[in-house]
Amino acid sequence: MIQQSRSTFVITDPTEIVRALVGLKDVRVLAYERRGPDTRLVIEQTLDEVRCPRCAGAARVKDRPVVTYIDLPVFGSPMRLTWRKHRMRCVDPACAMTTWVLRDHRIAAVSCLLTTRAAKWATEQVGTGRSVKEVAAELGCEWHTINDAVLTYGGALLAADKKRLTKTTAIGLDETNFVRLADQHTSYATTVCDVTNHQIIDILASRHFVDVAQWMADQGLDWRSRITYGALDMSATYAAVYSAMLPRAAQVVDPFHAVALANRALDAIRRRVQIEQLGHRGRRDDPLFQVRRLLTRAEESLTPEAAERLGVLLSLGDPTAEVAVAYRVKERLRDFYRESDPALAEALLADLRDKCLARSMPPEIRRLGRTIRTWFAKMCNFHLARLTNGPTESLNNLIKRIKRVGFGFRNFENYRIRALLYAGKPNWRVLGSIVVR
Ligand SMILES: [Zn+2]
Repeated sequence: MIQQSRSTFVITDPTEIVRALVGLKDVRVLAYERRGPDTRLVIEQTLDEVRCPRCAGAARVKDRPVVTYIDLPVFGSPMRLTWRKHRMRCVDPACAMTTWVLRDHRIAAVSCLLTTRAAKWATEQVGTGRSVKEVAAELGCEWHTINDAVLTYGGALLAADKKRLTKTTAIGLDETNFVRLADQHTSYATTVCDVTNHQIIDILASRHFVDVAQWMADQGLDWRSRITYGALDMSATYAAVYSAMLPRAAQVVDPFHAVALANRALDAIRRRVQIEQLGHRGRRDDPLFQVRRLLTRAEESLTPEAAERLGVLLSLGDPTAEVAVAYRVKERLRDFYRESDPALAEALLADLRDKCLARSMPPEIRRLGRTIRTWFAKMCNFHLARLTNGPTESLNNLIKRIKRVGFGFRNFENYRIRALLYAGKPNWRVLGSIVVR
């Protein structure tokens, strides 16, 4: 069944039709021009009585400066909006107010080359994944024009969207590096994530204690008191930040990071034994070279043939069984994470830690044992929280994608806003009410 709208307006006055199609309030359309593929709309503001902002006395139009903005495309071709502005002057010769230009942020913000509606549209396009270059081509303007608008409106959206962070109860801190194109310097940033809502909260241009702690302080007491878990890789700095700023939050070592550490110890032993046995680094026919991929695979995912091949290659290349021991350690650590009973898991990790610390163990495994000893409680907390920094890692992959999409990033704020728009889950509806003057 088709329902008829209760409020249907039929407009027949041509001036009114134009006004409705143009979609701008308090604006008079002076002309609509088409030259080849280029479309231009010429407008002016409809004025009520204008008074001097200083003395509130009468004001007159002094002249009509004309400024052209990039507007939303119409029928697939770029459009320009030419605004015949009003420059006013106070009629009182004694008044210090000389001249001023009338503005309307609903049409275009000061110093923005895009109309407000085009700037907001471009911000959402870029924020949800399109490249700046692509959007610039569609609007028929320069890369910088779009990028500046995205930074201005995107930044304002993120600042205004206060509800974005009120649901956070578990956060993750993660180090991200990025290279500044200007000088090829590597800078380190800290990504703060909501690890249960899979959302980037913020990106800080530092990995140092004072900066990360200050950021937490800036979020306010309410926010801090809601956080019950803090995920981290085995970073002493981030652990110290949590201890100082979120003393009641349980710290949880990211399992992926812990298992990666065990895999690195395994790989280091494999490479050392390779050299000790054969006197050279791994070559295609060497058993310890052939086995390298099988070692990092999860044991339960190996086919019977692959498991047998693993055993054969190790017996050939690893006569002292150091690699085999490291492989077992890695698999035991994975067992710790797969155990569902927290008490059994803790006992398992305690046993693994003590075995790793034994004098008979290879030095790489003893070092892993010391790491487990240091982080023991925070590793066990995984079974309390069942959360991982994993979402952070996948968000970092998103960030890497953004880095590729907009490879021209020259400054950190640019990178931060793009990443937050893309992976910070902003409420795009808030953008409509954003005012940039
Ligand atoms: Zn005046």
